[in-house]
Amino acid sequence: MIRRRELFAKEVCALRQSCLQPGCPVETGELLVLEIPVQDPSGCPFLGQLQVARELAGEVERIMSRVLECGYPIWCMRSLSDFGGDDRAAMAANNTLCFNGRRVAGSTRWSWHAYGRAIDLNPVENPWIRCEGVEPPAGCAHLVRETASFLVLTSEHPVVKIFEAEGWEWGGHWKEKGPDYHHFQKPVHAHKPD
Ligand SMILES: [Zn+2]
Repeated sequence: MIRRRELFAKEVCALRQSCLQPGCPVETGELLVLEIPVQDPSGCPFLGQLQVARELAGEVERIMSRVLECGYPIWCMRSLSDFGGDDRAAMAANNTLCFNGRRVAGSTRWSWHAYGRAIDLNPVENPWIRCEGVEPPAGCAHLVRETASFLVLTSEHPVVKIFEAEGWEWGGHWKEKGPDYHHFQKPVHAHKPD
């Protein structure tokens, strides 16, 4: 069962130290932690920690319950602060996360991650294919999307359908900046980040 809790003081401290770029639109008090009992691809269970926007907690709980029900494994689910705020290091470790108080890569706009409204799932099997390169680099092994691996997200994958049924956008559809197969977001259209 997924549990919801407030951030511990030490987690707030760690976020402030390494994960909040100046001017970040969300305060740590606007986040909650979901403790999610997941399994890695070898079937080994562990308790994932996902920091999400407080107002989306119920929705993300519902989504992640369905993701678990369909047997989708997760390699690692830890706070970005466990990687010293280094997004590249977190992606290289195949970490699944939500909150990241940063701007969009290569832009001045705030990412939906900075609002706790975007989730990256298993980024190595689901890389972002930008013209600047593949992120994370280990994702180069997964450029072919038609595969038997259940970890590889495609437009027909049940996990993508689960997110889309709740009105989340999947980065795998992006054409202009290249498909970002690990990224899901739930924008607030009333106040776009900028
Ligand atoms: Zn993302």
